[in-house]
Amino acid sequence: MSEKTLNPFKIAQKQLKEACDALGEEDAVYELLSQPEKVLEVTIPVKMDDGTTKLFTGYRVQHNDASGPTKGGIRFHPGVTKDEVKALATWMTFKCGVVGLPYGGAKGGVIVDPTVLSKRELERLSRGYVRAIAPIIGERRDIPAPDVNTNGQTMAWMVDEYSSLRGVGQTLPASFTGKPVEFGGCLARTEATGYGVMLMMREAAKYKGMDIKDMRIAVQGFGNVGSYAAMYAQAFGAKVVAVSDVSCCLYNENGLDVNDIMKYSKENNKLITGYTGECEELDRSKIFGIECDGFAPCALENSITSETSKEIKAKIITEGANGPTTPEAEEYLLEKGVFLIPDILANSGGVIVSYFEWVQNLHNYYWRFDEVQEKQEVKMVDAFVKVINAMEERNVDMRKAAYLVAIKSLAMPMRLRGWF
Ligand code: GLU
Repeated sequence: MSEKTLNPFKIAQKQLKEACDALGEEDAVYELLSQPEKVLEVTIPVKMDDGTTKLFTGYRVQHNDASGPTKGGIRFHPGVTKDEVKALATWMTFKCGVVGLPYGGAKGGVIVDPTVLSKRELERLSRGYVRAIAPIIGERRDIPAPDVNTNGQTMAWMVDEYSSLRGVGQTLPASFTGKPVEFGGCLARTEATGYGVMLMMREAAKYKGMDIKDMRIAVQGFGNVGSYAAMYAQAFGAKVVAVSDVSCCLYNENGLDVNDIMKYSKENNKLITGYTGECEELDRSKIFGIECDGFAPCALENSITSETSKEIKAKIITEGANGPTTPEAEEYLLEKGVFLIPDILANSGGVIVSYFEWVQNLHNYYWRFDEVQEKQEVKMVDAFVKVINAMEERNVDMRKAAYLVAIKSLAMPMRLRGWF
């Protein structure tokens, strides 16, 4: 099996096993966490604009609810598979565990290329998906959110559909997070994942005796995570020397104007190709070999392979995407002395602010932008320190240390609640 087609669920299970072994956890904890509690596969019929009907396959996976209701995004992508959703749900459990949120992990996915659907078709698909998974979700049970190719608008349709399905004559905003600010959303939620990725870059730099202000940073992926990661890198004083997306890589050794590229991509079908500001346009694969100090992979799984890892010049990698580094690539990078901040910590900003959104919805009381970012920073910096301590105490790498912290916080409620 080539690294590109590596099964992400097998990788998640391997990471879990290594951490359980390092902790000396009883076998039952590993066994229970190695499989999701629930996997729902649904078929969604959608009336297309041309009058035909198309069937789409979707999933909702709930991994573990020991610490509270389950939580995790919904992805619309042609490459979605059941095992991918299982892996992403598993990672959500550990993500919530490492930053101490009262949630377990879940994830949803629909096999679809959303770029070929009209807005009306996308709305019907979103509503159809919610009708199909409605029996197992809910604001105290499993709370979805955006992920790759879904956004605030998708969540608004989903809340609307879910609220009318429940038939209680009221809107249930806490049933989904990542909503538009005008409809129960939380200020700073859109920015949260990218902001968190750069908070972790900043902390990692400090730990390594560097200053983010002196760093050259490259960001792979220019969607919701990558674009804001690049924007905050610049806001923190770093030089963003390269960004890339599916269309190309933009490079300027003296630094790009990220805000301008964000503006351009919004007007250019969310792509950065054709940008005429001061930079060179290169093939997207060039992003790995850019001369830089920090690299943030913010695209999809398995993008850093044993091949692409050889090109990487950065000393610090913060994983904005879920599962971007293959185990082989990670081994190579760690041996080379690269400091890698794992996904479950580096991209936890999204679910942290989702949690804040949920709390605000349940209380119907809303916080300011700066209050949200401040609370996010406290949670992420605390978690960073905890993971660093575990890393030093046990002499393991950051990923294993993050799993150790997460499993510790999970195993206790599991034991207290018991299993039979
Ligand atoms: N999809 C995001 C993630 O992978 C956010 C999940 C959430 O907010 O529930 O972390």
